[in-house]
Amino acid sequence: MVRIALAVSAAVAANAANAADRGADGNFDRRTSAHFVLYQDVDIDATGGFRGSRRFEQGVLEVLEDAYEFLDRILGFRPKRKIEVIVYDPDIFDREFSRRFRFAAAGFYARVIRVRGDTQIHTGLVRVLNHELVHAALDAAAPSLIFPAWLNEGLAEWFEARMVGKRHLSIHELRLLERARENGRLVSLATLSTPSFGHLGPDAARLAYLQSYGMVEFLARRHGDRKLREFCHDLIRSRNLGRSLSRVYRSDLSSLETRFLEELGPRD
Ligand SMILES: [Zn+2]
Repeated sequence: MVRIALAVSAAVAANAANAADRGADGNFDRRTSAHFVLYQDVDIDATGGFRGSRRFEQGVLEVLEDAYEFLDRILGFRPKRKIEVIVYDPDIFDREFSRRFRFAAAGFYARVIRVRGDTQIHTGLVRVLNHELVHAALDAAAPSLIFPAWLNEGLAEWFEARMVGKRHLSIHELRLLERARENGRLVSLATLSTPSFGHLGPDAARLAYLQSYGMVEFLARRHGDRKLREFCHDLIRSRNLGRSLSRVYRSDLSSLETRFLEELGPRD
């Protein structure tokens, strides 16, 4: 099952906060690093040793600190306040949060990063942590600005891919988008400009995430990382998507979207 990471609304945040207050077994381990406070409640048998909770927690914080530095380098975001991260036992996460989304969530950000944990650090967990950091950083930079979901999720998907060395859409992802376009299943970015994708069903959510990632990857590939960074910061200043697109890309959303869609197609 593909799990999706996302940012959610304040209402979900409030409910999530209540759930966290109750705790899983009421026994969250707390550990801090330079930029993060980690609460960890995965049911790990031992404290020390190779498979112990201490090593797991240190590993999670290392992943987050690496992502923090890369995010600063690539997009110029460096949240000043420590970011809270809660790693839940997978069963507890599912019990507490699965009803909040229509698709299987791997983690979400709502003032705090909440992640469906595991007993070991693997690529999936790393990607979710990297993904959620982008939501946390955008929120820290502009707490009252509601980013269109295609941009918020697109940046998070793009960044988590870049963190693991993936710069572009895979052939498989390109084919999925092409097929969706041919079948008329792609929706406009204007439609994907809701505050989150939390309301979408599993198939629609998967496609919405991919389309958003594709759009941000298009911007980075065609215009460079520096412009993408400039655009993000300009948007935070202007709080006006159209104005920032025009200033940085000399274009508007629908023209950029048309160019992105035109580029989908066989690439040999
Ligand atoms: Zn997300």
